[in-house]
Amino acid sequence: MIKIVAIFLLALMAIDSAQSAASWSYGGSDGPSTWGSNFAECAASNQSPIDIQHSGSLVDGRLGNFALSMFTAVPPTMQLLNNGHAYITGGYTISDSKVLPGNYQALQFHLHWAANGSTVGSEHFLDNKQYFGELHIVHVNTKYPNISVALGETDGLAVLGFFVKVISTADNSAMEVFMAQNRLQAVAFEDATSNQVPFALSTIFPADFSNYYRYQGSLTTPPCSEAVVWTVFREPIIISQAQVIDFSLYQNKQNAPPNLLIGGNYRPTLPLNGRVVTRPSSELKLKPLTHTGPENWLNSYDACGTMSQSPIDIVHGATVADEKLGKFNRTTFTAIPDKMTLLNNGHALQVNLEGGYTVSDRNVLPGDYQAFQFHLHWAAVNQSRGSEHWIDGKQYFAELHIVHYNTKYASIGEALTQHEGLAVLGVFVAIGSETNENIDLLLNPIAQIQQYNQQMIYSSKFDIGRFLPEDLENYYRYSGSLTTPPCFESVVWTVFNEPIYISRAQVI
Ligand SMILES: [Zn+2]
Ligand SMILES: [Zn+2]
Repeated sequence: MIKIVAIFLLALMAIDSAQSAASWSYGGSDGPSTWGSNFAECAASNQSPIDIQHSGSLVDGRLGNFALSMFTAVPPTMQLLNNGHAYITGGYTISDSKVLPGNYQALQFHLHWAANGSTVGSEHFLDNKQYFGELHIVHVNTKYPNISVALGETDGLAVLGFFVKVISTADNSAMEVFMAQNRLQAVAFEDATSNQVPFALSTIFPADFSNYYRYQGSLTTPPCSEAVVWTVFREPIIISQAQVIDFSLYQNKQNAPPNLLIGGNYRPTLPLNGRVVTRPSSELKLKPLTHTGPENWLNSYDACGTMSQSPIDIVHGATVADEKLGKFNRTTFTAIPDKMTLLNNGHALQVNLEGGYTVSDRNVLPGDYQAFQFHLHWAAVNQSRGSEHWIDGKQYFAELHIVHYNTKYASIGEALTQHEGLAVLGVFVAIGSETNENIDLLLNPIAQIQQYNQQMIYSSKFDIGRFLPEDLENYYRYSGSLTTPPCFESVVWTVFNEPIYISRAQVI
Protein backbone atom coordinates (compact mmCIF):
# COMPACT_ATOMS: atom_id res chain seq x y z
CA MET A 1 0.00 0.00 0.00
CA ILE A 2 1.04 3.58 -0.47
CA LYS A 3 3.44 5.00 2.06
CA ILE A 4 3.96 8.51 0.80
CA VAL A 5 2.58 11.73 2.12
CA ALA A 6 3.34 15.34 1.34
CA ILE A 7 2.65 17.52 4.30
CA PHE A 8 2.65 21.11 5.21
CA LEU A 9 3.96 21.20 8.66
CA LEU A 10 0.72 22.22 10.21
CA ALA A 11 0.05 19.62 12.82
CA LEU A 12 -1.96 17.23 10.89
CA MET A 13 -1.44 14.12 12.78
CA ALA A 14 -4.84 14.14 14.42
CA ILE A 15 -6.34 12.19 11.54
CA ASP A 16 -3.50 9.73 11.59
CA SER A 17 -3.66 9.11 15.30
CA ALA A 18 -7.31 8.26 14.88
CA GLN A 19 -6.28 5.64 12.34
CA SER A 20 -3.70 3.95 14.49
CA ALA A 21 -6.17 1.82 16.44
CA ALA A 22 -6.18 -0.97 13.86
CA SER A 23 -4.47 -1.79 10.60
CA TRP A 24 -6.13 -1.42 7.20
CA SER A 25 -5.08 -1.44 3.59
CA TYR A 26 -6.40 -1.31 0.03
CA GLY A 27 -6.17 -5.04 -0.57
CA GLY A 28 -5.88 -8.44 1.06
CA SER A 29 -7.13 -9.48 4.47
CA ASP A 30 -7.56 -5.93 5.78
CA GLY A 31 -8.89 -4.40 2.51
CA PRO A 32 -11.86 -2.02 2.14
CA SER A 33 -14.53 -4.71 2.54
CA THR A 34 -13.24 -5.42 6.08
CA TRP A 35 -12.83 -1.83 7.27
CA GLY A 36 -16.29 -1.85 8.86
CA SER A 37 -15.33 -4.54 11.39
CA ASN A 38 -12.63 -2.40 13.02
CA PHE A 39 -14.07 1.04 12.18
CA ALA A 40 -17.84 0.99 12.63
CA GLU A 41 -18.47 4.18 10.66
CA CYS A 42 -17.00 2.58 7.50
CA ALA A 43 -20.17 0.46 7.39
CA ALA A 44 -22.55 3.42 7.79
CA SER A 45 -24.81 4.67 5.00
CA ASN A 46 -23.41 8.09 3.93
CA GLN A 47 -20.01 6.92 2.77
CA SER A 48 -17.58 8.12 0.11
CA PRO A 49 -16.54 7.83 -2.65
CA ILE A 50 -19.55 7.52 -4.98
CA ASP A 51 -20.20 7.22 -8.72
CA ILE A 52 -21.57 10.68 -9.57
CA GLN A 53 -24.27 10.59 -12.24
CA HIS A 54 -24.56 13.98 -13.90
CA SER A 55 -28.11 13.32 -15.08
CA GLY A 56 -29.13 12.38 -11.53
CA SER A 57 -27.71 15.55 -9.96
CA LEU A 58 -29.91 18.53 -9.14
CA VAL A 59 -29.22 22.21 -9.77
CA ASP A 60 -28.96 24.18 -6.51
CA GLY A 61 -29.29 27.89 -7.30
CA ARG A 62 -27.65 28.83 -3.98
CA LEU A 63 -24.32 27.31 -4.99
CA GLY A 64 -21.82 29.79 -6.40
CA ASN A 65 -18.44 29.63 -8.07
CA PHE A 66 -15.10 29.11 -6.39
CA ALA A 67 -12.65 31.91 -7.28
CA LEU A 68 -9.06 31.22 -8.24
CA SER A 69 -8.00 33.98 -5.83
CA MET A 70 -9.07 31.75 -2.94
CA PHE A 71 -6.14 29.47 -3.69
CA THR A 72 -3.31 31.77 -4.75
CA ALA A 73 -1.66 32.24 -1.33
CA VAL A 74 1.69 30.47 -1.11
CA PRO A 75 1.96 28.67 2.22
CA PRO A 76 5.03 29.38 4.39
CA THR A 77 6.25 25.78 4.39
CA MET A 78 5.34 22.56 2.67
CA GLN A 79 6.69 19.13 3.34
CA LEU A 80 6.35 15.71 1.82
CA LEU A 81 5.71 13.23 4.57
CA ASN A 82 5.55 9.50 4.50
CA ASN A 83 2.95 8.63 7.09
CA GLY A 84 1.39 5.67 5.37
CA HIS A 85 -1.33 7.24 3.29
CA ALA A 86 -0.86 10.39 1.18
CA TYR A 87 0.44 13.95 0.75
CA ILE A 88 -0.38 16.83 3.12
CA THR A 89 -0.35 20.66 3.15
CA GLY A 90 -2.21 23.64 4.69
CA GLY A 91 -2.86 27.32 4.66
CA TYR A 92 -5.57 29.53 3.18
CA THR A 93 -9.13 29.78 4.53
CA ILE A 94 -12.22 29.82 2.30
CA SER A 95 -14.91 32.10 3.78
CA ASP A 96 -17.65 32.26 1.17
CA SER A 97 -21.05 30.91 2.13
CA LYS A 98 -21.99 30.53 -1.54
CA VAL A 99 -19.44 27.74 -1.98
CA LEU A 100 -18.99 26.21 1.50
CA PRO A 101 -21.22 26.20 4.61
CA GLY A 102 -18.69 27.84 6.95
CA ASN A 103 -15.08 29.01 7.15
CA TYR A 104 -12.77 26.21 6.10
CA GLN A 105 -9.00 26.17 6.44
CA ALA A 106 -6.85 24.00 4.16
CA LEU A 107 -4.94 21.36 6.10
CA GLN A 108 -3.46 18.94 3.62
CA PHE A 109 -3.64 17.61 0.11
CA HIS A 110 -2.94 14.18 -1.23
CA LEU A 111 -3.28 12.07 -4.32
CA HIS A 112 -5.03 8.78 -5.02
CA TRP A 113 -3.86 7.08 -8.19
CA ALA A 114 -3.65 3.95 -10.29
CA ALA A 115 -1.51 0.97 -9.31
CA ASN A 116 1.55 0.38 -11.46
CA GLY A 117 0.33 -1.09 -14.76
CA SER A 118 -3.25 0.11 -14.30
CA THR A 119 -4.85 3.19 -15.87
CA VAL A 120 -7.54 3.85 -13.27
CA GLY A 121 -7.17 4.99 -9.69
CA SER A 122 -9.55 7.84 -8.87
CA GLU A 123 -11.89 7.36 -5.92
CA HIS A 124 -14.98 9.06 -7.33
CA PHE A 125 -16.37 8.08 -10.70
CA LEU A 126 -18.21 10.47 -13.03
CA ASP A 127 -20.95 8.91 -15.15
CA ASN A 128 -19.45 5.43 -14.60
CA LYS A 129 -15.98 6.59 -15.60
CA GLN A 130 -12.97 6.21 -13.33
CA TYR A 131 -9.98 8.49 -13.94
CA PHE A 132 -6.25 7.86 -13.56
CA GLY A 133 -6.11 9.66 -10.23
CA GLU A 134 -7.80 12.08 -7.87
CA LEU A 135 -6.39 14.99 -5.88
CA HIS A 136 -7.98 15.74 -2.51
CA ILE A 137 -7.53 19.02 -0.68
CA VAL A 138 -8.73 18.64 2.90
CA HIS A 139 -10.09 21.62 4.89
CA VAL A 140 -11.40 21.85 8.46
CA ASN A 141 -14.29 24.01 9.62
CA THR A 142 -12.64 26.63 11.82
CA LYS A 143 -15.63 26.83 14.16
CA TYR A 144 -14.47 23.56 15.75
CA PRO A 145 -11.51 23.65 18.18
CA ASN A 146 -9.65 20.72 16.59
CA ILE A 147 -9.89 17.98 14.01
CA SER A 148 -11.10 15.36 16.46
CA VAL A 149 -14.17 17.46 17.24
CA ALA A 150 -14.69 18.32 13.57
CA LEU A 151 -14.69 14.63 12.64
CA GLY A 152 -17.82 14.20 14.74
CA GLU A 153 -19.81 16.88 12.83
CA THR A 154 -21.42 16.57 9.39
CA ASP A 155 -19.91 19.93 8.37
CA GLY A 156 -16.58 19.32 10.10
CA LEU A 157 -14.46 18.91 6.96
CA ALA A 158 -14.65 20.09 3.36
CA VAL A 159 -12.74 18.15 0.74
CA LEU A 160 -12.20 19.47 -2.79
CA GLY A 161 -11.65 16.64 -5.26
CA PHE A 162 -10.09 16.96 -8.72
CA PHE A 163 -9.87 14.11 -11.18
CA VAL A 164 -6.46 13.53 -12.77
CA LYS A 165 -6.49 12.48 -16.42
CA VAL A 166 -3.58 11.32 -18.57
CA ILE A 167 -3.18 12.80 -22.05
CA SER A 168 -0.05 12.41 -24.12
CA THR A 169 0.75 16.11 -24.25
CA ALA A 170 3.13 18.42 -22.45
CA ASP A 171 4.12 17.72 -18.86
CA ASN A 172 2.13 19.45 -16.16
CA SER A 173 4.89 21.21 -14.27
CA ALA A 174 2.67 21.98 -11.29
CA MET A 175 2.08 18.27 -10.77
CA GLU A 176 5.80 17.48 -10.71
CA VAL A 177 5.56 17.73 -6.96
CA PHE A 178 3.87 14.35 -7.13
CA MET A 179 5.41 12.98 -10.28
CA ALA A 180 9.14 13.74 -10.15
CA GLN A 181 11.20 10.70 -9.23
CA ASN A 182 13.60 12.57 -6.97
CA ARG A 183 10.73 13.92 -4.90
CA LEU A 184 9.14 10.52 -4.51
CA GLN A 185 12.40 8.76 -3.73
CA ALA A 186 13.08 11.18 -0.90
CA VAL A 187 10.04 9.90 0.93
CA ALA A 188 9.85 6.32 -0.26
CA PHE A 189 10.10 4.73 3.12
CA GLU A 190 7.89 4.88 6.13
CA ASP A 191 8.26 8.02 8.25
CA ALA A 192 10.53 9.73 5.72
CA THR A 193 9.94 13.45 5.17
CA SER A 194 11.22 15.89 2.61
CA ASN A 195 10.96 19.67 2.43
CA GLN A 196 9.10 20.98 -0.57
CA VAL A 197 9.41 24.45 -2.07
CA PRO A 198 5.97 25.87 -1.24
CA PHE A 199 3.61 26.67 -4.09
CA ALA A 200 0.06 28.00 -4.43
CA LEU A 201 -2.51 25.28 -4.98
CA SER A 202 -4.09 27.40 -7.70
CA THR A 203 -1.17 26.41 -9.95
CA ILE A 204 -2.45 22.82 -10.02
CA PHE A 205 -6.06 23.61 -10.87
CA PRO A 206 -7.65 23.02 -14.28
CA ALA A 207 -8.81 26.02 -16.33
CA ASP A 208 -12.47 25.61 -15.42
CA PHE A 209 -13.35 24.86 -11.84
CA SER A 210 -16.77 26.49 -11.91
CA ASN A 211 -18.55 23.23 -12.61
CA TYR A 212 -18.66 20.89 -9.65
CA TYR A 213 -20.78 18.38 -7.75
CA ARG A 214 -21.68 18.67 -4.07
CA TYR A 215 -22.80 15.95 -1.69
CA GLN A 216 -22.55 14.92 1.96
CA GLY A 217 -20.15 12.05 2.60
CA SER A 218 -17.22 10.68 4.54
CA LEU A 219 -13.47 10.27 4.74
CA THR A 220 -12.51 7.61 2.20
CA THR A 221 -10.07 6.01 4.64
CA PRO A 222 -10.73 4.65 8.17
CA PRO A 223 -12.20 5.86 10.44
CA CYS A 224 -14.55 6.86 7.53
CA SER A 225 -16.06 9.70 9.58
CA GLU A 226 -19.23 11.07 7.95
CA ALA A 227 -17.99 14.61 8.40
CA VAL A 228 -17.24 15.69 4.84
CA VAL A 229 -18.90 18.29 2.64
CA TRP A 230 -17.66 16.97 -0.73
CA THR A 231 -16.93 19.08 -3.80
CA VAL A 232 -15.90 17.11 -6.88
CA PHE A 233 -14.92 19.22 -9.89
CA ARG A 234 -15.92 18.07 -13.34
CA GLU A 235 -12.89 19.20 -15.32
CA PRO A 236 -9.84 17.05 -14.63
CA ILE A 237 -6.25 18.07 -14.02
CA ILE A 238 -4.22 16.88 -17.02
CA ILE A 239 -0.85 15.16 -16.73
CA SER A 240 1.27 13.68 -19.50
CA GLN A 241 1.85 10.05 -20.36
CA ALA A 242 5.57 10.72 -19.83
CA GLN A 243 4.88 11.75 -16.25
CA VAL A 244 3.05 8.51 -15.63
CA ILE A 245 5.96 6.55 -17.10
CA ASP A 246 8.37 8.42 -14.81
CA PHE A 247 6.15 7.44 -12.00
CA SER A 248 6.03 3.76 -12.89
CA LEU A 249 9.77 3.58 -13.56
CA TYR A 250 10.26 4.75 -10.05
CA GLN A 251 7.81 2.19 -8.78
CA ASN A 252 9.71 -0.57 -10.54
CA LYS A 253 13.16 0.52 -9.45
CA GLN A 254 12.92 1.07 -5.80
CA ASN A 255 14.01 -1.56 -3.32
CA ALA A 256 10.91 -1.33 -1.25
CA PRO A 257 9.54 -4.09 0.94
CA PRO A 258 6.88 -6.06 -0.97
CA ASN A 259 4.01 -4.35 0.81
CA LEU A 260 5.36 -0.88 0.06
CA LEU A 261 3.64 -0.15 -3.25
CA ILE A 262 2.67 3.21 -4.64
CA GLY A 263 -0.71 3.57 -6.25
CA GLY A 264 -3.93 1.61 -6.25
CA ASN A 265 -4.82 3.60 -3.14
CA TYR A 266 -8.49 4.11 -3.82
CA ARG A 267 -11.61 2.91 -2.05
CA PRO A 268 -14.35 1.33 -4.21
CA THR A 269 -17.47 3.46 -4.73
CA LEU A 270 -20.39 3.14 -2.33
CA PRO A 271 -24.15 3.57 -2.77
CA LEU A 272 -25.82 6.97 -2.46
CA ASN A 273 -28.49 5.55 -0.13
CA GLY A 274 -30.91 8.36 -0.87
CA ARG A 275 -28.41 11.21 -0.73
CA VAL A 276 -28.75 13.97 -3.30
CA VAL A 277 -25.90 15.24 -5.45
CA THR A 278 -26.27 18.92 -6.36
CA ARG A 279 -24.46 21.27 -8.71
CA PRO A 280 -24.41 25.03 -9.30
CA SER A 281 -26.74 26.49 -11.93
CA SER A 282 -23.92 28.14 -13.85
CA GLU A 283 -23.90 25.51 -16.54
CA LEU A 284 -24.37 26.83 -20.01
CA LYS A 285 -26.68 25.36 -22.54
CA LEU A 286 -25.56 27.06 -25.69
CA LYS A 287 -22.73 29.53 -25.41
CA PRO A 288 -20.20 30.78 -27.89
CA LEU A 289 -16.83 29.13 -27.72
CA THR A 290 -13.68 31.16 -27.81
CA HIS A 291 -11.80 31.17 -31.08
CA THR A 292 -9.64 33.36 -33.23
CA GLY A 293 -11.90 35.58 -35.27
CA PRO A 294 -12.18 35.71 -39.06
CA GLU A 295 -10.20 38.95 -39.25
CA ASN A 296 -7.09 36.99 -38.28
CA TRP A 297 -7.52 34.11 -40.69
CA LEU A 298 -6.05 35.78 -43.73
CA ASN A 299 -2.66 36.02 -42.09
CA SER A 300 -2.17 32.30 -41.78
CA TYR A 301 -4.44 30.71 -44.36
CA ASP A 302 -3.85 31.70 -47.96
CA ALA A 303 -7.07 30.16 -49.34
CA CYS A 304 -9.26 32.33 -47.07
CA GLY A 305 -8.56 35.35 -49.25
CA THR A 306 -9.61 33.91 -52.63
CA MET A 307 -12.73 34.54 -54.71
CA SER A 308 -15.34 31.85 -54.11
CA GLN A 309 -15.65 32.04 -50.36
CA SER A 310 -18.52 31.20 -48.03
CA PRO A 311 -20.75 32.17 -46.37
CA ILE A 312 -22.73 34.59 -48.53
CA ASP A 313 -25.87 36.70 -48.25
CA ILE A 314 -28.26 34.84 -50.54
CA VAL A 315 -30.43 37.30 -52.47
CA HIS A 316 -33.44 35.35 -53.64
CA GLY A 317 -34.19 37.74 -56.49
CA ALA A 318 -30.74 37.16 -57.92
CA THR A 319 -30.96 33.34 -57.90
CA VAL A 320 -31.70 31.29 -60.98
CA ALA A 321 -34.03 28.28 -61.06
CA ASP A 322 -32.25 25.06 -62.13
CA GLU A 323 -34.73 22.46 -63.46
CA LYS A 324 -32.22 19.66 -62.97
CA LEU A 325 -32.21 20.11 -59.18
CA GLY A 326 -34.62 17.78 -57.36
CA LYS A 327 -35.97 17.26 -53.85
CA PHE A 328 -33.90 15.53 -51.15
CA ASN A 329 -35.38 12.19 -50.09
CA ARG A 330 -35.99 12.19 -46.32
CA THR A 331 -35.44 8.46 -45.88
CA THR A 332 -31.79 8.93 -46.84
CA PHE A 333 -31.25 10.73 -43.54
CA THR A 334 -32.95 8.28 -41.19
CA ALA A 335 -30.04 5.82 -40.93
CA ILE A 336 -28.36 5.94 -37.50
CA PRO A 337 -24.55 6.29 -37.62
CA ASP A 338 -22.30 3.64 -36.04
CA LYS A 339 -20.64 6.10 -33.69
CA MET A 340 -21.16 9.74 -32.75
CA THR A 341 -18.63 11.87 -30.87
CA LEU A 342 -19.39 15.40 -29.62
CA LEU A 343 -16.39 17.72 -29.79
CA ASN A 344 -15.61 21.32 -28.84
CA ASN A 345 -13.49 22.29 -31.85
CA GLY A 346 -12.92 25.85 -30.64
CA HIS A 347 -15.41 27.65 -32.88
CA ALA A 348 -18.39 25.35 -33.07
CA LEU A 349 -19.96 22.34 -31.48
CA GLN A 350 -19.14 19.45 -33.74
CA VAL A 351 -20.39 15.87 -33.90
CA ASN A 352 -18.10 13.46 -35.70
CA LEU A 353 -19.81 10.51 -37.37
CA GLU A 354 -18.58 7.04 -38.17
CA GLY A 355 -20.74 5.11 -40.59
CA GLY A 356 -22.88 8.09 -41.63
CA TYR A 357 -25.50 7.80 -44.38
CA THR A 358 -24.61 8.36 -48.05
CA VAL A 359 -26.59 10.55 -50.45
CA SER A 360 -26.50 8.86 -53.89
CA ASP A 361 -28.96 10.89 -55.90
CA ARG A 362 -27.68 12.86 -58.91
CA ASN A 363 -30.86 14.94 -58.83
CA VAL A 364 -29.62 16.61 -55.65
CA LEU A 365 -25.82 16.20 -55.52
CA PRO A 366 -23.16 15.68 -58.22
CA GLY A 367 -21.78 12.42 -56.77
CA ASP A 368 -22.06 10.00 -53.86
CA TYR A 369 -21.55 11.95 -50.65
CA GLN A 370 -21.17 10.38 -47.22
CA ALA A 371 -21.94 12.35 -44.04
CA PHE A 372 -18.95 12.51 -41.66
CA GLN A 373 -19.75 15.35 -39.28
CA PHE A 374 -22.19 18.10 -38.44
CA HIS A 375 -21.75 21.22 -36.37
CA LEU A 376 -23.56 24.31 -35.18
CA HIS A 377 -22.70 28.01 -35.50
CA TRP A 378 -24.68 30.31 -33.23
CA ALA A 379 -25.07 33.78 -31.75
CA ALA A 380 -22.83 35.21 -29.05
CA VAL A 381 -24.20 35.67 -25.52
CA ASN A 382 -27.12 38.15 -25.49
CA GLN A 383 -27.08 38.35 -29.29
CA SER A 384 -29.86 37.05 -31.47
CA ARG A 385 -28.03 36.47 -34.75
CA GLY A 386 -25.34 33.89 -35.38
CA SER A 387 -26.03 32.08 -38.65
CA GLU A 388 -23.28 32.17 -41.26
CA HIS A 389 -25.43 32.50 -44.36
CA TRP A 390 -28.01 35.24 -44.65
CA ILE A 391 -31.10 35.31 -46.84
CA ASP A 392 -32.19 38.64 -48.29
CA GLY A 393 -30.33 40.56 -45.62
CA LYS A 394 -31.69 38.45 -42.75
CA GLN A 395 -29.40 36.57 -40.39
CA TYR A 396 -30.84 33.76 -38.25
CA PHE A 397 -30.00 32.79 -34.68
CA ALA A 398 -27.89 29.79 -35.68
CA GLU A 399 -26.98 27.52 -38.56
CA LEU A 400 -26.43 23.79 -38.66
CA HIS A 401 -23.94 22.39 -41.17
CA ILE A 402 -23.98 18.74 -42.13
CA VAL A 403 -20.71 17.93 -43.89
CA HIS A 404 -20.29 15.13 -46.46
CA TYR A 405 -17.37 14.03 -48.61
CA ASN A 406 -17.41 12.70 -52.15
CA THR A 407 -16.71 8.97 -51.83
CA LYS A 408 -14.87 8.87 -55.17
CA TYR A 409 -11.90 10.19 -53.19
CA ALA A 410 -9.87 7.83 -51.03
CA SER A 411 -10.20 9.89 -47.88
CA ILE A 412 -11.83 12.95 -46.37
CA GLY A 413 -8.42 14.61 -46.36
CA GLU A 414 -8.11 14.16 -50.10
CA ALA A 415 -11.69 15.27 -50.83
CA LEU A 416 -11.17 18.43 -48.76
CA THR A 417 -8.95 20.01 -51.39
CA GLN A 418 -10.87 18.92 -54.54
CA HIS A 419 -13.54 20.79 -56.49
CA GLU A 420 -16.91 19.33 -55.36
CA GLY A 421 -14.96 17.20 -52.87
CA LEU A 422 -17.38 18.17 -50.09
CA ALA A 423 -21.11 18.79 -49.89
CA VAL A 424 -22.51 20.77 -46.96
CA LEU A 425 -26.20 21.00 -46.09
CA GLY A 426 -26.99 24.21 -44.23
CA VAL A 427 -30.08 24.50 -42.02
CA PHE A 428 -31.04 27.80 -40.37
CA VAL A 429 -32.08 27.70 -36.72
CA ALA A 430 -34.62 30.31 -35.57
CA ILE A 431 -36.04 31.05 -32.11
CA GLY A 432 -39.58 29.73 -31.68
CA SER A 433 -41.95 29.01 -28.81
CA GLU A 434 -41.62 25.23 -28.52
CA THR A 435 -38.79 23.22 -27.01
CA ASN A 436 -36.96 21.34 -29.76
CA GLU A 437 -36.34 17.92 -28.25
CA ASN A 438 -34.01 16.96 -31.08
CA ILE A 439 -31.70 19.83 -30.19
CA ASP A 440 -31.83 18.72 -26.55
CA LEU A 441 -30.58 15.30 -27.65
CA LEU A 442 -27.65 17.04 -29.24
CA LEU A 443 -26.96 19.46 -26.39
CA ASN A 444 -27.52 17.39 -23.27
CA PRO A 445 -23.85 16.42 -22.94
CA ILE A 446 -22.57 19.93 -23.76
CA ALA A 447 -21.55 20.60 -20.18
CA GLN A 448 -18.91 17.91 -20.54
CA ILE A 449 -17.13 19.69 -23.39
CA GLN A 450 -16.96 23.32 -22.30
CA GLN A 451 -13.22 23.43 -22.92
CA TYR A 452 -11.51 23.49 -26.29
CA ASN A 453 -10.78 20.01 -27.62
CA GLN A 454 -12.90 18.18 -25.05
CA GLN A 455 -15.05 15.43 -26.49
CA MET A 456 -17.48 12.72 -25.49
CA ILE A 457 -19.10 9.76 -27.21
CA TYR A 458 -22.91 9.68 -27.29
CA SER A 459 -24.22 6.61 -25.50
CA SER A 460 -27.51 6.84 -27.43
CA LYS A 461 -27.06 7.64 -31.09
CA PHE A 462 -29.64 9.34 -33.28
CA ASP A 463 -30.33 10.00 -36.94
CA ILE A 464 -29.44 13.33 -38.58
CA GLY A 465 -32.76 13.62 -40.43
CA ARG A 466 -34.40 14.99 -37.30
CA PHE A 467 -32.46 18.26 -37.72
CA LEU A 468 -33.75 18.91 -41.24
CA PRO A 469 -36.77 21.16 -41.96
CA GLU A 470 -40.07 19.80 -43.33
CA ASP A 471 -39.45 21.29 -46.73
CA LEU A 472 -36.56 19.52 -48.49
CA GLU A 473 -37.47 20.86 -51.92
CA ASN A 474 -36.76 24.58 -51.59
CA TYR A 475 -33.09 25.23 -51.21
CA TYR A 476 -30.28 27.35 -52.64
CA ARG A 477 -27.26 25.84 -54.36
CA TYR A 478 -23.87 27.41 -55.01
CA SER A 479 -20.19 26.50 -55.20
CA GLY A 480 -18.25 27.82 -52.24
CA SER A 481 -15.77 27.08 -49.52
CA LEU A 482 -15.27 25.89 -46.00
CA THR A 483 -16.31 28.76 -43.71
CA THR A 484 -13.35 28.16 -41.38
CA PRO A 485 -9.64 27.85 -42.19
CA PRO A 486 -8.24 26.33 -44.34
CA CYS A 487 -11.18 27.78 -46.39
CA PHE A 488 -10.74 25.34 -49.31
CA GLU A 489 -13.12 26.06 -52.19
CA SER A 490 -14.29 22.48 -52.37
CA VAL A 491 -17.88 22.77 -51.17
CA VAL A 492 -21.15 22.15 -52.99
CA TRP A 493 -23.42 24.24 -50.77
CA THR A 494 -27.09 23.51 -50.13
CA VAL A 495 -28.87 26.04 -47.91
CA PHE A 496 -32.45 25.12 -47.08
CA ASN A 497 -34.99 27.91 -47.23
CA GLU A 498 -37.09 26.75 -44.28
CA PRO A 499 -35.53 27.06 -40.81
CA ILE A 500 -35.91 24.73 -37.84
CA TYR A 501 -36.86 26.18 -34.45
CA ILE A 502 -35.60 26.03 -30.89
CA SER A 503 -37.05 27.73 -27.82
CA ARG A 504 -35.57 30.76 -26.05
CA ALA A 505 -35.06 28.59 -22.93
CA GLN A 506 -32.76 26.29 -24.87
CA VAL A 507 -30.44 29.14 -25.67
CA ILE A 508 -29.39 30.26 -22.19
ZN1 LIG B 1 -8.32 11.25 -0.26
ZN1 LIG C 1 -19.87 25.38 -40.59
